[in-house]
Amino acid sequence: MGGENCFVEQKATKEILLRVTNVCGQCYESLCEGENIYYDMSTYRYLCQRCKDELCERMNDECEIEEEGGGLF
Ligand SMILES: [Zn+2]
Repeated sequence: MGGENCFVEQKATKEILLRVTNVCGQCYESLCEGENIYYDMSTYRYLCQRCKDELCERMNDECEIEEEGGGLF
């Protein structure tokens, strides 16, 4: 798991929720004030913790998603 450094952990503030987004960029769950949210620097969106963890597990050190099996291309 190399993706931890691809995300910036932040507390969801009213400011972010109003000005940027109030839903997770991946699963569209509502983000609530005071929650930990994660800014994904490779896709420029905020994610909830669950989606961050999932993506983290699939990312390499370069913040690239490694497709399982690798048989797509
Ligand atoms: Zn999510």
